[in-house]
Amino acid sequence: MITILPGRFPAWFTWCSSSHPSFLSHWSLSFWISSSVWPLLSSWSLCRSRVPMSVCVRVCSCVSVSLRVIPCLLLTATAHAATFTAGYAERDITPQAPMPMWGYGARHALLAQSAADPLTARVIVLEAGGIKLAIAGLDLGRAPTFRSLDRIKSLIQEKAGVAHLMICGSHTHHGPVVELLDEPGLGQGTFDAAVKYVTQLEDAIAAAIIEAADKAVPAKLGWGAAEVTLNRNRQKKDEPKPRDPELAVLRFDTLDGQPIVLLVNFAAHPILQDIRDLRWTCEWPGYMIKAINEQLGAPCVFVQGAAGDMSPNPAGERTIQAFGAEVAAEAVKIARQITPQAPAQPGLQVVEDTFDFKTRLDLQNSLIRATFKQMFFPEILAMLQEIPGDTIHPRLITVVLNGQLALVGGSGEFFSAHARRLKAESPAERTLFFGYCNGHQMYFPTREAIDQGGYGTEPSVSWVEPGAGEYMIDTALNHLRALHAAS
Ligand SMILES: [Zn+2]
Repeated sequence: MITILPGRFPAWFTWCSSSHPSFLSHWSLSFWISSSVWPLLSSWSLCRSRVPMSVCVRVCSCVSVSLRVIPCLLLTATAHAATFTAGYAERDITPQAPMPMWGYGARHALLAQSAADPLTARVIVLEAGGIKLAIAGLDLGRAPTFRSLDRIKSLIQEKAGVAHLMICGSHTHHGPVVELLDEPGLGQGTFDAAVKYVTQLEDAIAAAIIEAADKAVPAKLGWGAAEVTLNRNRQKKDEPKPRDPELAVLRFDTLDGQPIVLLVNFAAHPILQDIRDLRWTCEWPGYMIKAINEQLGAPCVFVQGAAGDMSPNPAGERTIQAFGAEVAAEAVKIARQITPQAPAQPGLQVVEDTFDFKTRLDLQNSLIRATFKQMFFPEILAMLQEIPGDTIHPRLITVVLNGQLALVGGSGEFFSAHARRLKAESPAERTLFFGYCNGHQMYFPTREAIDQGGYGTEPSVSWVEPGAGEYMIDTALNHLRALHAAS
């Protein structure tokens, strides 16, 4: 039991933030590079040499946690009122013009011409002890770029006092590319609609957050979870295969018991829609939300988990509608068993980290860049702008809500064993892991998975050095333990 006093850590209890995104993916690129180009590149020694983690990994904040937490406690223990509020809003983020799709290299620059389903940004804004946190679930393949996140953060801080963000892509493989830039060769003049869309996306997300903050009302919170069989490991060839079976639900109600919003957290790739279908779709998470809306009369935000090695495992038909309904049925069962309560000690603690990891590929190398251009399309190199030199900068956000609930977000495709360990070792009453959160730095396999090989473990799609995922989870656990010990 964590017993953190209300509002102990103000908005400035936040460290480092910097930048990077990346896209690239999936089957075709990985397979092609692995089978043909990668051996060649490796033989030419273009891959970065391995450096011990202790030497090559620099973390902005975790090394000083023990020094910084105590002063914060002393200075702000009585600074904020004991309030807890929650608000919800959403915006349509469906592209209104043809533009390239995110998710499969094999599609190259083929343009989506229409929408099978609308794409939506759904937002919860929480205020606890005077600090505001926005949690956004997007019908997109990834979270926005660091550049976009910085602009969104500036808008919502200025207009709604929201200091912290967890913006997460559902990882649908039928959403738009969001990395292109208004610069020659990186989108300008070739994909102007996609460049313009990025600004529209930032505005829409910021508007939803500002509206949700404005609509926030005193709230009760409860949570529940169940182990389900709706996902499977797609990477490991032999047993036992790691898996995170947990389907978790947060339920936010008004003080008189009316639903404000639900949050559903589960790990499974949204890859059921046919790659050849060049239309936007929210994939199975969107249909899960639709079914929950219909059954509970409540809005719902979906946050993808550590799905790096998790595929959907439908019991029934392999369609986005049927699988969405399957997940919704389990989520509704959990939600109905939850009895939300007003938190006894509202409070919000947030620690943000940015890491500097060496890249496994030399992403500045002209041959590798030419390969990416060929496999996708030339302008996609815009994503490498957030990887200056030979370092990559994943982000981590660690949140403790009301002294009880831990939310940890990582900017990429974490393998499920990372989330399992985080949840098992966390001192919080309940811990959720959000993948695809606050940026996108590709796959974070475990060291064990890298040793075994398989999809998501190769340097072509996992750019961070081996051990990066473990290091980030260790960092989150250190933060959680420090906050717990200080309470
Ligand atoms: Zn993926």
